Amino acid sequence: MTRFAASMQEHREELVALDTAIGDGDHGTNMDRGMRRALEKLGAQEQADPATVLKTVAMALVSSVGGAAGPLYGTLMLQMSTALAGKHNVGVDEYAAAWRKGVDGVQARGKAQLRDKTMVDALMPAVEALERASNLDAALREAASAAERGMRDTIPLVARKGRASYLGERSRDHQDPGATSSYYLCLTAAEALAS
Ligand code: ADP
Ligand code: MG
Repeated sequence: MTRFAASMQEHREELVALDTAIGDGDHGTNMDRGMRRALEKLGAQEQADPATVLKTVAMALVSSVGGAAGPLYGTLMLQMSTALAGKHNVGVDEYAAAWRKGVDGVQARGKAQLRDKTMVDALMPAVEALERASNLDAALREAASAAERGMRDTIPLVARKGRASYLGERSRDHQDPGATSSYYLCLTAAEALAS
């Protein structure tokens, strides 16, 4: 979470530029603000297991990020938190199952399918890579690569969900901002959790 917050700060202007092209230009500032708030909340905790960390970040994102992405990332992390409740050591299968539950939650809430040009296009291939891998290091690495490909694959798509969908054909030839922040989430998870 510390790395993801740093990444959202580092890539704030990039995410703003992507969202300016096909949305309202707030995705970078939204995510940076939300993750700053999340770190403040985490810093105030004495100790925390993975489920508690995820729940704390989810609540901070939901309460401090307006727009579509806050509630969707909140749902992702809240569902992951539920999947990991009570666990202190998390193996690759449990880790993959938590991401699966999280992405299912994002889809239940936002109704986006693959190739609708949303964060789902980065998250879904990442989850599938996690489920295929047999050890955690490979899973983390392959999930980040799959998310990156999914992010790039949003470029030629026409958006069918969210604000970008109002643009219709004009949303083509732009990379989706939410898929981009989701790639950074997978990348920072790999950096932080690989042995
Ligand atoms: P807003 O669109 O309200 O300004 P943000 O700019 O923070 O919110 O986030 C935009 C991103 O949210 C999009 O790039 C897309 O990836 C994601 N998004 C929007 N609607 C949906 C949805 N229904 N399902 C999944 N992701 C979505
Ligand atoms: Mg926006």
